[in-house]
Amino acid sequence: MTDWTQVVDAHGVVGRVPLLLDQVEGEEGPGAWEELWDRLCLHGETVSAASFTALPRLAALAPTCARALELASAIVRGALRHPDGKALLAGCPNEVARLRELVDQRFRTRPADYHRLFGDLLALAGQYHWSASMGDFADDFYTVSSPGCEAEVTIAVGDYGCYSAIRDWDRGDTERRTLRPAPAEELRGPGRWMHATADRDGQQRLTEGIRYVFGRAECPACASLQHCGSAHDREPSSSP
Ligand SMILES: [Zn+2]
Repeated sequence: MTDWTQVVDAHGVVGRVPLLLDQVEGEEGPGAWEELWDRLCLHGETVSAASFTALPRLAALAPTCARALELASAIVRGALRHPDGKALLAGCPNEVARLRELVDQRFRTRPADYHRLFGDLLALAGQYHWSASMGDFADDFYTVSSPGCEAEVTIAVGDYGCYSAIRDWDRGDTERRTLRPAPAEELRGPGRWMHATADRDGQQRLTEGIRYVFGRAECPACASLQHCGSAHDREPSSSP
């Protein structure tokens, strides 16, 4: 049994979360869900010790309650930003495996929020880096450092094109080089199952985008090649 008197939520409060869980288990209205989100996954991303302690109860609700599945998945995503997140998640491997199964089942229904769910699936599979950094490939821009000359290289994947370039404040993306997507049959590890999953579900843009982020980019300045997704500090940046 969890000693809830010892577990604080995102607002530093103890005792409120177990009451709210009682309420949602008894289907006592949307108000309780709203407060649960606020206490367990503040602003959709900040988790605390109480979030991990609540995970088994949310996972138990998840097969019949989409809201529980959504909150539980968001907590797992939030683990990325919590200093003890990975260790706390390691304490509930069965729940994480079950949640992953449920998200994968939801894919078969072709949900409108497929892309967000794909990010959830990546987190549930332990692929935190990809869960946090993968955009929707509509117009994603990343900045990486050239391995050859350390020039700042902008990588674009989306409707503006799929290229590496040197971004100029006045002239936009200059010296564009076409990206080299990885052939699907050469994908390995996480790239392989990510691609297979998106392909299975008919998510064409995602399937293509995965080949690009696992493909290679040429530095316009020195022609050295690097894997587009190799920069672990890469952050989506804004449009030119
Ligand atoms: Zn270079």
